[in-house]
Amino acid sequence: MDITKKERDCIVVIHDNSKPLPLRLSDVAGLMNIKPPTAHELINRLLSKNIIKKERGMITLTDYGNEIYSEIMMAHRTLEIILTRSGVNSDKACTQVEKVDYLMDTSSIEKLLQTIGNPDKCPHGKPVHAV
Ligand SMILES: [Zn+2]
Repeated sequence: MDITKKERDCIVVIHDNSKPLPLRLSDVAGLMNIKPPTAHELINRLLSKNIIKKERGMITLTDYGNEIYSEIMMAHRTLEIILTRSGVNSDKACTQVEKVDYLMDTSSIEKLLQTIGNPDKCPHGKPVHAV
């Protein structure tokens, strides 16, 4: 994954708020608490990386974008499990892991998952292998 923290947050916002209706630019700006011109720039970057698509103003993840989302979540939840098992409070684990999950190498995360016995849920009960 070759993305910034802002792009990571935007991918998660778009994925997690796409139902019942896909988001529009103003929704993304509101949910991310950024100004519309900033959201516009961010959206354009994600469009040029083929991570999202925009149809009639509605913004959704591409297949590639969904793949990236799954990789971020797998890294996020794997590291969360390791931290909470080590005694870190689950909310603290979550906020710390957000800073690094999008930077992790997926094959390394898969090795970590094996090492900890392939759990399928994070401390919040969410699936390690999210779609
Ligand atoms: Zn979390």
